[in-house]
Amino acid sequence: NQDGKQPPLPSPLRFSKFFQPNMRILITGGAGFIGSHLVDRLMENEKNEVIVADNYFTGSKDNIKHWIGHPRFELIRHDVTETLLVEVDRIYHLACPASPIYYKYNPVKTIKTNVIGTLNMLGLAKRVGARILLTSTSEVYGDPLVHPQPETYWGNVNPNGVRSCYDEGKRVAETLMFDYHRQHGIEIRVARIFNTYGPRMNIDDGRVVSNFIAQAIRGESLTVQSPGSQTRSFCYVSDLVDGLIRLMEGSDTGPINLGNPGEFTVLELAQTVKELINPAVEIKTVDNTPDDPKQRKPDITKAKEVLGWEPKFALKDGLPLMEDDFRKRLGVAKAK
Ligand code: NAD
Ligand code: UDP
Ligand code: UDP
Repeated sequence: NQDGKQPPLPSPLRFSKFFQPNMRILITGGAGFIGSHLVDRLMENEKNEVIVADNYFTGSKDNIKHWIGHPRFELIRHDVTETLLVEVDRIYHLACPASPIYYKYNPVKTIKTNVIGTLNMLGLAKRVGARILLTSTSEVYGDPLVHPQPETYWGNVNPNGVRSCYDEGKRVAETLMFDYHRQHGIEIRVARIFNTYGPRMNIDDGRVVSNFIAQAIRGESLTVQSPGSQTRSFCYVSDLVDGLIRLMEGSDTGPINLGNPGEFTVLELAQTVKELINPAVEIKTVDNTPDDPKQRKPDITKAKEVLGWEPKFALKDGLPLMEDDFRKRLGVAKAK
């Protein structure tokens, strides 16, 4: 300029279409069920580069094999309990077994993953100035005495039971997130995810939706763990992924509940799966495991207000999509 002033920089908002910076995104646990759907969604944006770090404990390369070799995608075999050196702008920290049979299999390792793994990812976020999102869980509410559960409820958790490695592990992970935020100014986001289902769930990981669908397809009895009146609320995975991205790119730290408020007893779920997939199968009652929460339903008022998010898929819409995926993987076509 003649008067020596610099011309104003273009408004990032006005020109965002042209000036969007490339975003390098780390997803720990990205070879798992939810992580792989998140990879798919983030890879759709050609400005994103995605790095997955996973030790394949419960995840599989199969879930993300369609991205291997893509120039914007990188896969690292890595255990988050070890130091990780990468340069990224965003960290979605999902690494942790989510199904009771896997997180109870080596409970000490589950605690290390939650505590040391989250500490390491926070140390990484601190070093590179990245924003980090933790996938916490409705299990932080334990066997809840408040129903439905708002984020302000502190929970009712057994500190030394067989589920504690997971519940208490995630509670400490949340504490670490907020302490790094308060002490070091790290940008954090905490999602509390309620039971989520969809394609790519481990077929034999013991969770209720995957068990019932696999049993119905195989013509086996559906195993309702007593009493069957316990409730859960099931969110379809694409809805969940949408909520995670909104949370990451929004301005609220959370914790924010992400889940579908449609609440079903386990027996109702069994009946729905039976009608939908195989009316010939029986429903039998089997023993339950200790500390099973009796009821669970998210209060999603905060997610609606802060993220403008609510789930779109009802259970009856999501189950058939999961059935298709399970039939392909089990090699059992639907009878005409
Ligand atoms: P998942 O088991 O399919 O995925 C977890 C992934 O983490 C797997 O790929 C596994 O190999 C990896 N992993 C485990 N330990 C690791 C370690 N030490 N280092 C590196 N990778 C490791 O489970 P998911 O259902 O996709 O769950 C993803 C996240 O969401 C978890 O943090 C879980 O606690 C949380 N969550 C899930 C649900 C749900 O209903 N699925 C509900 C609440 C919270
Ligand atoms: N860390 C990591 N990657 C990094 C930076 C740190 O994995 O790029 C780990 C590191 O191993 C450490 C943890 O994060 O154990 C916490 O790091 P922080 O700097 O907060 O703590 P300190 O190293 O001072 O104990
Ligand atoms: N459940 C069941 N049959 C099964 C597996 C699970 O009745 O084959 C019940 C279990 O007792 C619990 C509910 O389904 O009440 C949800 O269990 P899941 O392991 O899927 O998730 P979480 O307990 O972590 O919510």
